[in-house]
Amino acid sequence: MAKSLKSRLLSITLLTIICMIGLLSIYLSAVSRHYLLNITLKGMEPLARLTAENISRSMTGPSPVHLDSLADGFSKIIGYRITIIDATGKVWGDSDEDGANLAAMDNHLGRPEIRNASRTGSGHSLRYSQTLKKELIYLAVPVIARGNPWGYCRIAWPFTDFASYRWHLFLSLITGFLMAAALLVFIYNTYWNTVILSIRKIEAAVRRIKNGDLSARAPSKQGSREIDFIATSLNELAQSWEQTLTDRDGQRLRLSAVLQGMSEGVIVIDNRQRITMVNASACQMFGIEHAACQGKLLIEVIRHPDIGEWSQRPVASLEFTVGGKNYLAHGSPLENEKKESDIVIVITDITDYKRLENVRKDFVANVSHELKTPLSAIIGYSQALHEGNYQNKEQMNDFLERIHRQSERMNRIINDLLALSALETGSYEINLRSVPLRELLQRALENVQQQADQKKQVMSLKNIPDILQIKADEVKMVQALTNLLDNASKYTPEKGKIDISVESSENSIRIKISDNGSGISTEHLPRIFERFYRVDKGRSRELGGTGLGLAIVKHIAEMHRGKMGVESVLGEGSTFWMELPV
Ligand code: ADP
Repeated sequence: MAKSLKSRLLSITLLTIICMIGLLSIYLSAVSRHYLLNITLKGMEPLARLTAENISRSMTGPSPVHLDSLADGFSKIIGYRITIIDATGKVWGDSDEDGANLAAMDNHLGRPEIRNASRTGSGHSLRYSQTLKKELIYLAVPVIARGNPWGYCRIAWPFTDFASYRWHLFLSLITGFLMAAALLVFIYNTYWNTVILSIRKIEAAVRRIKNGDLSARAPSKQGSREIDFIATSLNELAQSWEQTLTDRDGQRLRLSAVLQGMSEGVIVIDNRQRITMVNASACQMFGIEHAACQGKLLIEVIRHPDIGEWSQRPVASLEFTVGGKNYLAHGSPLENEKKESDIVIVITDITDYKRLENVRKDFVANVSHELKTPLSAIIGYSQALHEGNYQNKEQMNDFLERIHRQSERMNRIINDLLALSALETGSYEINLRSVPLRELLQRALENVQQQADQKKQVMSLKNIPDILQIKADEVKMVQALTNLLDNASKYTPEKGKIDISVESSENSIRIKISDNGSGISTEHLPRIFERFYRVDKGRSRELGGTGLGLAIVKHIAEMHRGKMGVESVLGEGSTFWMELPV
């Protein structure tokens, strides 16, 4: 585990101090050794010269001298080891060696202090003595006897002072180090503790931000400029990040609301044709659960053979049919974060549009056809009359009668078309007011009474209270009821029965017109309210029908916010009903 900042800082500083003290001690040791040596030599040199002078004097005295005894004697006085060496390097006296040992001492001419003394008049050397097992300072000066160089006087002193000095130095440095360490710990626990505490607070804020809590803030104004800068920058960063995320969430929510509210289906697929997003309309269109779509292949959801190939290169729109419904798909590429291209497919349900297009086409064809038949007849008969192609006056009257009938038929068709057009374009202004329903029904009945009487049909109004009122446009409602009664009479044989009844509930009134006529087979019922739709075209024409009556009725019902319906059994009769809100 990584060390804490505090222990790291403390250990690094202590290590630095140790290194510094180590280097200092090496330096001090070297400098002080040199210094001590110089001081010692300075003290030794006059003693060595004094001793040499005394040796010289002793040698020039009247009685011969024993040089080894001389060395011993002077050594006792000055406390140094004294060695007397002649110019050839032979040792004549040594305060530490006597007798055989003295005689066995090797030639000293090669000793560095002797060599230097012969050259410069004074020589010294510091070296380890194997004999005494300690480091010694040797200082040699020449001995002049009777004005001539005779040899050398060498004094030696153990360099032990430096060792004790070094030990003292070491102890002082250790003491210094311990005091510095104590001071350091104290400084860390006072000043650095506050710095480290503010860094820890920043660290805690960073951890919270990392875990997704963007409201976390590091305390600023904690002392140091650098730490304040880090804390403020972190806070600004978290704030702008929070703002960005909030904006993005808002955008996502808005986009999602728009997508889910769209009536068009929207599907996003990745480059492997897998669905990454789908809206509610698309799920509804293809009857799939939203959760089940994610990650599915597009072809599994839209089961059409062309969809897979098209969605790979959706350059043009695709029209396709699934489950009897017509759809139009538009695709456009959408680059995602990984620079791969997703594809957004917008699907529109064009079933109604297609149906209306077909209705429009059929309508134009029907109108042309309906008008062409009587028009051809009129042209034919009028041409015959014009060219005198008739046998007698009766035939001429017959032709004129036919022309008249076809003209009336055309007139009826055009009137119905105009009525329908006025209703469809909304150019007719509906005038709603409360009117007694019974009165409206009676007026409609009167309109068809003559026709019913001719066919000896019985028309009866059942259980309709006089006070029952509906909100209606009188003119249009009477027209609609007349159309329904006219049909009932037309498609019911002689002596048939036509009943008009009413069912009222809390919210609506249902007007029912039942007959025991020809009835309509089930397959025609869903289209019976379409324009020009007739079960039996020939029969309808024969009876003067235009095929527009029920379409007009349906429009009038819708103008009153009502609806139309029919129940019928072939050969038994039909019941047409209109339901109006109250
Ligand atoms: P039309 O002018 O041909 O009567 P409508 O729109 O009024 O046109 O009626 C459409 C078709 O519905 C008719 O041609 C007829 O086949 C059928 N129809 C309407 N009312 C009845 C009814 N009461 N009984 C049987 N068939 C009916």
